[in-house]
Amino acid sequence: MSVVKSKPEIDVPQEGIFSQIEGYEHEQVAFFNDKASGLRSIVAIHNTILGPSLGGTRFWNYNNEAEAVRDVLRLSRGMTFKAAAAGLNLGGGKAIIIGNSRTDKSEALFRRYGKFVNSLGGKYITAEDVGTNTQDMEWIALETKHVTGIPESMGGSGDPSPFTAYGTFLGIKASAKQMFGNDDLSGRKVAVQGIGHVGEVLVKHLIEAGAKVTVTDIHKDRIQHMVKTYGVSAVESDEIYDVDMDIYSPCALGATLNTENINRLKCHIVAGAANNQLADEKLHGNMLIEKGILYAPDFVINAGGLINVSCELEGYNRERVMDQTEKIYNRLLEIYTIAKEDNITTQEAAMQLAIKRLNDIASLNSRR
Ligand code: NAD
Repeated sequence: MSVVKSKPEIDVPQEGIFSQIEGYEHEQVAFFNDKASGLRSIVAIHNTILGPSLGGTRFWNYNNEAEAVRDVLRLSRGMTFKAAAAGLNLGGGKAIIIGNSRTDKSEALFRRYGKFVNSLGGKYITAEDVGTNTQDMEWIALETKHVTGIPESMGGSGDPSPFTAYGTFLGIKASAKQMFGNDDLSGRKVAVQGIGHVGEVLVKHLIEAGAKVTVTDIHKDRIQHMVKTYGVSAVESDEIYDVDMDIYSPCALGATLNTENINRLKCHIVAGAANNQLADEKLHGNMLIEKGILYAPDFVINAGGLINVSCELEGYNRERVMDQTEKIYNRLLEIYTIAKEDNITTQEAAMQLAIKRLNDIASLNSRR
């Protein structure tokens, strides 16, 4: 019984909320508006075959509401495949809050948001994402138990980003092994786009491994901090695609791998933590192959943080988290082998693995 299809994103309508929900095959999408606290939020539950949906809350100043809807739909869909590929018993969900994370946050806003999450009755569990941190999760936790990634001082597992960064680092090594025949990163030129929670820790690992790192960010203070602390090179944010590099690591926002940027890339590998890196999975997955660039599917390489927060739900055990995160290395090598043998993109190979598990478990459940 096949219950999950991998519809190419190009076939999903670009507008019309219901058409997009149908196109991406979401189970539920909930909107919340609270004038008093300024909260405007959307929670998207993509699929709950494997368990309750889990995914972080993104706090972002979208250009318009249509962009926010599209982002939450794409991100939540990605979480379904991420959890499935990582072998977790979780479904795919994600949330966005519209606003500027540097100026618009307040306790009242996050507590209202916590009540909103609570009203979904556990079908959606939240955590950190771009623009949110452990302090925000602490406020949310005052209103709902359906939150993870809460501070260690409250018995939680804390910020998941270091685990995402570690998994991404291992994924970069696996990709180097596939492309260059060995996973030694010493002397390799790596360019990292976005040096936030994940990017900074990833840079630390890369430097320790002897890589020559170039960074960029849209915030100048982040760049200054990285140059001062780690002695890395830096470029303006739009120059990152032209840098002389072996490996490009997107760790900012999604959809940066579009036709224009891919044409500018001169690297051998794209392997980074950002979600939904390919603006169009099929088109841009194939473009990368034509350019001889190996692409590490984002939802496989960046699963470390999800593994960490999911373990918090089961009773936290750091050793288990590290063991599961280290599996990303061999999982990627397996995906690269399938892609080569079946003559498909690495993204398609990763989707096949995830969808197979989803359908296997769905058919198991239907026979109970
Ligand atoms: P973050 O907000 O801490 O950092 C993102 C950084 O990217 C910020 O410093 C921001 O200024 C910068 N940025 C945004 N747009 C940019 C651009 N166009 N050019 C250069 N820099 C830009 O977020 P994070 O937690 O580090 O997450 C980074 C990415 O990894 C996101 O796509 C996120 O969804 C993904 N991810 C994160 C985790 C996690 O554990 N935090 C897990 C899985 C995936």
